[in-house]
Order: sequence, then structure tokens, then C-alpha cells
Amino acid sequence: MPEVTTRSIELKTTTPGPRSAEWMERKLASVPRSVGTVLPSFVSHAHGAVIEDIDGNRFLDFAGGIGCLNAGATPPEVVSAIQEQAAKFLHTCMMVSPYEGYVELAEELNRRTPGDFAKKTLLANSGAEAVENAVKIARAYTKRPAVIAFEDAYHGRTLLATSLTSKTSPYKSGFGPFAPEIYRMPYAYCYRCSYNLTYPECKLHCATRLEDMFLRHVAADSVAAVIFEPVLGEGGFVAPPPEWFGEITEICRKHGILIIADEVQTGFGRTGETFMCDRVGLVPDLICMAKSLSSGMPLAAVTGRAEIMDAPGPGQLGGTFGGNPVSCAAALATLKVLDAQETNQRAIEFGRIFRKRAEEWQRRFPLIGDVRGVGAMQAIELVRDHATKTPAKEEAQRVLAYCHQHGLLIISAGVYGNVVRLLAPLVVTEEQTEEGLSILEAALQHVSAQQNS
Ligand code: PMP
Repeated sequence: MPEVTTRSIELKTTTPGPRSAEWMERKLASVPRSVGTVLPSFVSHAHGAVIEDIDGNRFLDFAGGIGCLNAGATPPEVVSAIQEQAAKFLHTCMMVSPYEGYVELAEELNRRTPGDFAKKTLLANSGAEAVENAVKIARAYTKRPAVIAFEDAYHGRTLLATSLTSKTSPYKSGFGPFAPEIYRMPYAYCYRCSYNLTYPECKLHCATRLEDMFLRHVAADSVAAVIFEPVLGEGGFVAPPPEWFGEITEICRKHGILIIADEVQTGFGRTGETFMCDRVGLVPDLICMAKSLSSGMPLAAVTGRAEIMDAPGPGQLGGTFGGNPVSCAAALATLKVLDAQETNQRAIEFGRIFRKRAEEWQRRFPLIGDVRGVGAMQAIELVRDHATKTPAKEEAQRVLAYCHQHGLLIISAGVYGNVVRLLAPLVVTEEQTEEGLSILEAALQHVSAQQNS
């Protein structure tokens, strides 16, 4: 394994360096343009919260491969577990000849997910697949067809997941027709309330509005499930007021509708608890997980009440690679690392450091419309004007570009592309956190100065 570096950021060339630029040309010629990349630097190796590219430049990583590296880029225990399992066997297919890792991981997730009742877990390959399976299971159990999803939601790129996703460009445009029986209502995005109301005077109109859906759009007894991210991920790190979850749950329970929590991005410590559901006391019927579950190895899970998970009959769910043994070994080791490193606590600390600085930035830079987030899942929303909240998408892109040129890898989010979000590995050190935030601060200063000139 490469040496652990002491200095997080070291730039030897411009970005991209000459070797990366050469590979970028090869990429453009050989890979469809739809597969975009944020940073045009090809990775040589990574450790903790640091990525080194093939030109020898070191970047501080505040993207974590879109939130997959809560335990760090190459946790030694996870790497060893992968190596050990790979030497034993790479694949048998769970549906052909079973192996212990699948069952062991299912038991772990049954134990760790919210809800004090018998649970079962299905393993799959990606977040989108977890979502697809959760919907299939909910339909099989309830014998109802419809699903209610939210505006600004992101659930993945397979066709059903794309249908559930709300942002049209780039995710949906040109890919229809979409799966039927999906109904949508506004999320609790208080900064941009769809009803122009203000919390708490709004009395959570956006949640109670669910009853209205049953009158205007789809009968309650046709709805299998309501699916939501407990904090919007791609939608811009929006966390509903805590009571929102209670309101939605009460209405769903009244009508026999299942709750599917998509914790693909929020899970495994990102919000300062293992799951965001734990934080708000939500006990979903089904929970979707992926990303940081397995430190970047392809793996996803759906965990839920045993009787619901058993609704589809033998052979009705599965897939060749679902719950691959190497990925299971990575996940089991990752869970141990997350426990040992106390990453939930570190997420809270990261959030505290960020908020202290970001709230000061908000006073200095009119560009910042909103500062928000939970735990380490923190973001700033950039606007041209506080009164109109006109999204500052180009400015957000310039902030990112400045960060990239100065050694900080960071990504955007939001339906308007104007949210700068932080998804740093939770093992990031305090020094690295401050270093990264200083670059972001300089970027905001730089872009604000451009705006004023
Ligand atoms: N749900 C959520 C909340 C996500 O953030 C993502 C990925 N960004 C997905 C589902 C889809 O996961 P995957 O890319 O692994 O299919």
C-alpha cells in the first residue's frame, strides 16, 4: 500500500497534469460523453481523505466518491478483508451456492437498522437496485401498484429509479416513457417552500398535503409505499423539520401504506447517527442502503420487516452479483471500522466546525443564501439575490473550479445545481477539515469579488 502522506494537498502541476490530460483524451474517445467527471485528474491512489493523481498531485477529498468513503479511502482492515476473501473465492452467486458473508451481513444490518422487530435483508449491487427491489417488495406485500415520491428526490438511474427521481436534466431528459403509477408531491424544502409558507407557522402543510393527494391524484388504497430520502442528497442536502417524519408516518399508517426510507446517501454515520431515521425517530418499513456500506465496493441492501420482505416468493428477487462475497467482506469490515473510528461522533464534529465557519461566511458573502445540513452532511446554497433567491449556478461552478485548482475536491447538488455540498470521509482529521474549509472560503471570496467587479 502507498505510504500515508503527511501533507494533504500538494500540487505539482496544473489540473489536469500532462499525464491526466492524455488519459482524458483517451477517455473522451473511448467512453460515452454521458459519463461525466468532475475532476479531470486520473487517480493513482488514495488514503483517508486524500487522493493522489497520476501526475503526483494530492487533493483533499471532500466528495468521497459521492459519499461512499465514510470509513476512508483505503481502510487497512477493509483492504485486508477484501484480499482475504478474494483469495478464497470471488463469486459463486448466492442463488446457486450460498456463503456465510451474505448471511452474516444480513444479520448485522437487521440488527443495526431502526425498528425493534424481526427483519430480513436482501443484498443487491447499487442504490438504484435497492430502490427497485424495495418497490417490488412493497407492491408484492400490499398488492397495490402506486408509489408516492417527492420533488427534488434522487433514487438512481435504472428506469424505475429514474422514474422516481425528480430532476429532469440531466437524469430524465430523453429517457421516457417512465414507469407508471408514480405520484409526486413537494418535499419539505423550507428555503424554497412550494407553498410559499414559513416554518413553523406553516403547520407542515407539505406533509399534511399527503391526504389531499389521495383525493386529487391517487386513492390511498392504491398506494403501496411512500419513498423518500430523510435528507435530500442530490436534491441539495435538504433536511425536513423533525415533525415532518411523524406527520408522514401517521398518514401512511392510517392508510396501510408502507414507508421506504432511502438512506443510500445518508446512511452509515453521515448525519451523525448510523441512519438519519435514528435521529428523527422514524421506523420505516423498508430501508435502502448502499454507498458507504462497503467503502466503495459495489453493494446495496434493502432491510425491512420480515413479513414484508418475505412477500415475494422463492426466486422472485435476486441477481447474479447481488451480495457478492468480496463486497460482503468489505461491508462487514467497514462496519467494524465505522464503530472503532467513532465516525458518528466525528460527523457531528465535522458539522460543528463547518457551521461555525459557514455562518460567518454567510454574513460576509451575499452569495450564500442558505447554510444547512445534518452532521457531516453539510451544504451551502448560492443565490444571486436574497429576495428573489435566483439560483447562482455558474457561481457555484466557479467556486468548485477554484477549489479544484487549489487542491480541494468538492461537488455540487440541487435541482438548480447551485448547492455546494460536503461529503468528506468521516475519518478526515480536524486539520484537514480546516484546510479544506479555508480553500472553500477563499473560493467564495474569489467568486464574490468577481461578482462585484
Ligand atoms: N438513492 C440515493 C439517495 C442516492 O444518493 C443515490 C446515489 N447518489 C442512489 C439512490 C442511487 O445509488 P447508485 O448510484 O448506487 O445506483
